[in-house]
Amino acid sequence: MTFPPLREDLRGLEPYGAPQLDVPVQLNVNENPYGPSAACIADIAASVAQAAASLNRYPDREFVELRAGLATYLSRDTAAAGWSITPEQVWAANGSNEVMLQLLQAFGGPGRTAISFAPTYSMYPEYARDTHTRWVQGRRAEDFSLDLDAARALVEAERPSVVLLPSPNNPTGTALPPDAVGVLCEAVGEAGIVVVDEAYGEFRRADTLSALELLPTHRNLVVTRTMSKAFAGAGLRLGYLAADSAICDAIRVVRLPYHLSAVTQATALAALRHTEELLGQVDTLRAERDRTVAWLRSEGLTVADSDANFCLFGTFADRHAVWRGLLDRGVLIREVGPEGWLRVSIGTPEEMAAFREALVEVRREL
Ligand code: PMP
Repeated sequence: MTFPPLREDLRGLEPYGAPQLDVPVQLNVNENPYGPSAACIADIAASVAQAAASLNRYPDREFVELRAGLATYLSRDTAAAGWSITPEQVWAANGSNEVMLQLLQAFGGPGRTAISFAPTYSMYPEYARDTHTRWVQGRRAEDFSLDLDAARALVEAERPSVVLLPSPNNPTGTALPPDAVGVLCEAVGEAGIVVVDEAYGEFRRADTLSALELLPTHRNLVVTRTMSKAFAGAGLRLGYLAADSAICDAIRVVRLPYHLSAVTQATALAALRHTEELLGQVDTLRAERDRTVAWLRSEGLTVADSDANFCLFGTFADRHAVWRGLLDRGVLIREVGPEGWLRVSIGTPEEMAAFREALVEVRREL
């Protein structure tokens, strides 16, 4: 027996995570480059101070006020269709990573199957591994879209309890049409849930829709979101979902008691009061993304269409050399996705100018 006596299937594995390096231009983990204003910081600080006065008590286990605030925020996307999301249809945890782990704890498990379609977010197989859920991975089409017939056939063959569908997908930026989500919800039926991971949902292009609109017609649909990206709150660790209230109730069985600290709840509520400001740079980032995609293409590179705050570009015979060359010039991007591709997060105009300049230099040298 080797020490520590780790589960056999976990031995030798590396923890997930991108390098955290202190370089001038950080474009590697799809953060929002714009920090909060002084007024927002002051409101968060005052709210946390108030929460601190009763830190001897456990926080509200059901985080009722926060669920109501998140329901109001999400209902912006459903208002045009004439309905709203209720607090009972909302659940939250420490980042959408934790939300998804809880979903796998509740709906996956031994004897059950989860599926997704590669290339996709590398944490998905880890949630399956950690919950002893069987993991099946289909493939996306050459252009990274979902081949709906193949996806439906896989669902029918594997009868999964959980289907993970990011939209926009990470690392490709590809959004899914709600019709495709509807077809897969039908194929899965009530024996499973379909999770549409909309971590980057707010960055979608004008003609791309959210899967939230399908909630009234599909009881087995779960739409996850996060405050980490568009909401400029990666440090806050607050992810959430909208689903049938029975699904939210079921998650309560597996969540740890008081999993959302009083400090987290106070901070998230304060951030929600500054929604307009925190989301204020989303349009700027979308425009900068479209400019970046166009520039990369004008340089003769291939770029996946993106509905997110990053784009995947390539292809390079030696992508590591390109990544390294950029890092040597103070620009950190991500070596992720299929062989030969690289992913860059969208930063400020100054950061993107530094990225462009460094990439031109690196390509000239290689
Ligand atoms: N889903 C996708 C597709 C992501 O890319 C990420 C973060 N990189 C997450 C979920 C998790 O984000 P968070 O835990 O910060 O909400």
